[in-house]
Order: sequence, then structure tokens, then C-alpha cells
Amino acid sequence: MSRQHGTALGPGSPVLALDIGASSVKYAVFDDDGGIAHSGVRELVLDRQEAALEQLAGLVAGLVAGLNSARAAGARPTIRPGSVGVTAPGIVDALSGVVRHSANLGWRDFALRDELAARLGMPVAIGHDVNLAGLAEHRLGAARGARNAMVTVLGTGISSALLVDGQLLSAGGYAGEIGHARIFPIGDARARACSCGAIGCLQTVASAGGLVAEYARRTGRTVPGAEQVFAAAAAGDPEAAAALRLGIDALALALAQCAALLGPELIVLGGGMAQAGEALSAPLEAALHGLLSFHRRPRLVPAELGRWAGTFGAALLAREAASG
Ligand SMILES: [Zn+2]
Repeated sequence: MSRQHGTALGPGSPVLALDIGASSVKYAVFDDDGGIAHSGVRELVLDRQEAALEQLAGLVAGLVAGLNSARAAGARPTIRPGSVGVTAPGIVDALSGVVRHSANLGWRDFALRDELAARLGMPVAIGHDVNLAGLAEHRLGAARGARNAMVTVLGTGISSALLVDGQLLSAGGYAGEIGHARIFPIGDARARACSCGAIGCLQTVASAGGLVAEYARRTGRTVPGAEQVFAAAAAGDPEAAAALRLGIDALALALAQCAALLGPELIVLGGGMAQAGEALSAPLEAALHGLLSFHRRPRLVPAELGRWAGTFGAALLAREAASG
């Protein structure tokens, strides 16, 4: 099997990693150098907890069976994974191994770690998807060497992993939900209803979905994604530029509050919207720095691990579970 994705965890026990999304699971087998020996994406329907367990256990069993038959056929290197790391979306209590609530999958108080470990007969560790992507960026990617950093994922929603004095802040799964922090007061013309039930949340204007919705509100035109709003703004469309300005100013204000509270050295920008690169990061950094005075001024840098960041984070967690 050939190496994929370049990045490696470094020497240690072989592990399996699963990154659970809304309708698919990314999986990877890590060898004893910590490189990905085998990986892929499987479409799975995971919206019922019992059925989700069956499907996840089946996926892992299939991967282990594949490794066993490769070993029997004399494949080198031989890989015997000793633990599994899993990311999950929603409110995830990594310490107790319970997914408290996942709006996307309809899970509630789901003891995913222990139930899956019982089915597989090997240690399992779970964590929040964005937190584990943040852990991976901290150990292996853009936030390497930083003691205090935020890894902010800008996609359908907005969420941040927080590294505080070198430790990932979890707070029982409740930390980092900056997308649902109120940025506009009720009554403000810019305060929109959010999918969480509140009004005026950051992500209603500053996520990829928020930019698209704001552009549609102004023009009556629905575009497929934030990419088209950035492109229209670059081409001189004043309504696209206004939607971007609103989103960037809201995000800068939210990040300024975080900078005052946490003093990050850098803020890593990931997720689909960060693909806009400088068109996002340059005006965002200028707006953010304009809001700070004596505070530490965080640098804004692009994420390095891309869409496999969560999988690398799950593997790091699995390594820790294997070492007890
Ligand atoms: Zn909200």
C-alpha cells in the first residue's frame, strides 16, 4: 500500500481513524510511522444510533479484515491497529465518550465510545470534529509551535478549536461554538434568525451559508456557494461586496472578543470558505487589528491539513487511547 496525504504522525502504534460527516465517513489506516497507508470515504446513513453503531463497527471490521488478508498474503509492512479514533459533529464530551447532541445526525446522549469499543473489542476514543481538526493543525499543521491559538473552521457554520496554554479546551464539548455567539442585538436590522433557534448569531452572516443568504437577500439571486459571492465582489458587484463586508466585519468583531479573552498568537482559518485565501484573510486581518489596542495581535494563517485534518486528529487521539 502506498502512502497518501504526505503528513505523518511520527512513529507509534498503528491506529484506525474515522471522521464522521453528515452523510459519509472518511476513514484511514495509519501505519507505525504514523503515515496513512490506506484511506477512503464511505457513504453511510447514520441518523439512528443503533444502526449507526452497526455501520461504523462494520466499516472497522472490514478494514481490519482487509489488513489481515493482506498480511496473510505477505504484504509489508504488516499493520495491526490497536485502537480507533473517531470524530463526531455536535456537542461531544470527549472525556466521558458521549455525544450529547448532534443536530445533523439526530443523536442525543449517545455513548458512542463505549458502545463502539464493546462491539470492536479494542479501545476507542472520540472527539469533536473541529476540535480534532484543531488538535491536528496544532501538532502537525499551521499552528505547530503555538501555545495559544484558535483554529476556526468557516463552512456551512462556524466553529473554533481553542488551544489555551498548549491544551485543547473542551469544556464538556461546549467550548468553541463561536458561530452561535450573538453578534447583533435583537431589533438590529442585521439580526437574522439562526438554525439554532436564536437570533443574530455570527454564522447567519459570516459563514459560507450566511454570505450566500445575505447576497440572495440583497439581489434575489441564489448562488451555489460563497465562492460565487467572492468572485462577484472581485468583478465589481456592489451587492456582493456589501454582503462580504457585513460578514467580514461581524467575523472580525467576534475574533476581536476572542483575542481579548484568550490572547491567541495566531488564528488558523480552515473550511470551505477559507479557500478564498487572501480575498478573505487580508480584509479580515485588517478589520480585526483595527479593533485591537494593547492586545496581542494574532496572525491569520491558512490551515495546512485540508479536509483530512479531522482524520489526523482522530488518529492522534487513538494513539493516546492505545498508550492507555
Ligand atoms: Zn445560532
